[in-house]
Amino acid sequence: MNPWETDAEPEGFAALAAAGWPASRAAALARLHAFADRAGRAYAARRNFDWGPGRHTAVSGLSPYVRPRLIAEEELAAAALARHGWAAAEKFVQEVCWRTYWKGWLEQHPGVWDAYRAQCAEAESRRAADCAFARRLAGAEAGETGLEAFDVWARELAETGYLHNHARMWFASVWIFTLGLPWVLGAELFLRRLLDGDPASNTLSWRWVAGLHTRGKTYLARADNIAAYTEGRLHPSAGQLAATAPPLDEAAAPVRGPLPKGDATPGGRRILWLVTEEDLTPELWALDPARAVGAALLAPQPCPGEGEIVSRFRADALADARARLAAIPGLSPVSIRSARELADLAHARGAEALATPYIPVGPTRDRLADWAPVLEAAGLSLAQVQRPWDQAFWPHARAGFFQLKARMPKVLGELGLL
Ligand SMILES: Cc1cc2nc3c(=O)[nH]c(=O)nc-3n(C[C@H](O)[C@H](O)[C@H](O)COP(=O)(O)OP(=O)(O)OC[C@H]3O[C@@H](n4cnc5c(N)ncnc54)[C@H](O)[C@@H]3O)c2cc1C
Repeated sequence: MNPWETDAEPEGFAALAAAGWPASRAAALARLHAFADRAGRAYAARRNFDWGPGRHTAVSGLSPYVRPRLIAEEELAAAALARHGWAAAEKFVQEVCWRTYWKGWLEQHPGVWDAYRAQCAEAESRRAADCAFARRLAGAEAGETGLEAFDVWARELAETGYLHNHARMWFASVWIFTLGLPWVLGAELFLRRLLDGDPASNTLSWRWVAGLHTRGKTYLARADNIAAYTEGRLHPSAGQLAATAPPLDEAAAPVRGPLPKGDATPGGRRILWLVTEEDLTPELWALDPARAVGAALLAPQPCPGEGEIVSRFRADALADARARLAAIPGLSPVSIRSARELADLAHARGAEALATPYIPVGPTRDRLADWAPVLEAAGLSLAQVQRPWDQAFWPHARAGFFQLKARMPKVLGELGLL
């Protein structure tokens, strides 16, 4: 039984889901404040239960806000630690650190993202050419496979933009091992439909389920586990789910490269800030209003097939950031779509340099990949400034999660959070 069934707080999970996750920093902070009491031992005990759409009251539901950094990882950790102390908050902070681990790992293995994009394109070509395959995919995406549990998750995903972590694991496992569909198209579906769709957490979690991250170790969704953690709400019958999960293989193991260090904020100069969906909290940047002469907001580029609620969330999140930037004297934020528009705005404002919060591996970085020549020709350089949280944790995301986990107390101490 869901012990928080009568969760009636205005910022409770149910209210958040019913309102479709209002995309603002104020809503994110209110939700963190409302959830913080549950981020201790209660979270550790109940976080794996999936009580169904709108009823995930044992988890925070904060990921849509963390994804564009309407709220930051360190704010989640700080709230949980302040309320509960290390021993009780460890599990919650550890889950926040899973996100940091995936981000840091992908930074050091960017080829995995490129390979995923290439495989998506190949699989999409097959979808266009093979009618039977396209029909199977359409059935899975619409939640019309006849496998009740899977269909329930597919519909929850489409209708709310959120799935509980356990449901994401089951969904991915069934997609790959029971339905026999390509993992990359499952990952792509999540990216298009999740409010928190994230290139690192999503791609690498799918790879983990498929046995490509921890090589040879897969995740098998089992009927008894689903029944136990949905408290009987969903109960696939014997034989409906794949009985084994043979690991997928790929031609070459991911190659690790150097960890990008990030740049210092340009010193002593007039700076124009580039604001992207990767980080929408100027309150936490090293932004010196005395030297900032403007803010350029990169307009979102909808990805093909993106859910309407996702597009709306992205647009609203950016609008919220714009309003907060506009309140900082002298910034007068303006939307831009190209390197040319950015350079023109920089010149119009008399900027000598550009700065942006660091842009990690993913669609935004891909979009900006060919901007450098235009900016260079305009005499501008773009400094990418990393957050202290990322700088402290990412070096420990080289291999498995447990290396990072072992260093959590030390790093949190260095960051002044423990
Ligand atoms: C196949 C699959 C795909 C996923 N895709 C995404 C994705 O696109 N974006 C995304 O943010 N997460 C993804 N996750 C991770 C996880 O499911 C979500 O972060 C979590 O369910 C978010 O809900 P919450 O905020 O209520 O989590 P809580 O349990 O309240 O956790 C607090 C915060 O910690 C982080 N977190 C928690 N669990 C994980 C985890 N396992 N991995 C990474 N970060 C975590 C999130 O930022 C979250 O907001 C995926 C997991 C799987 C198995």
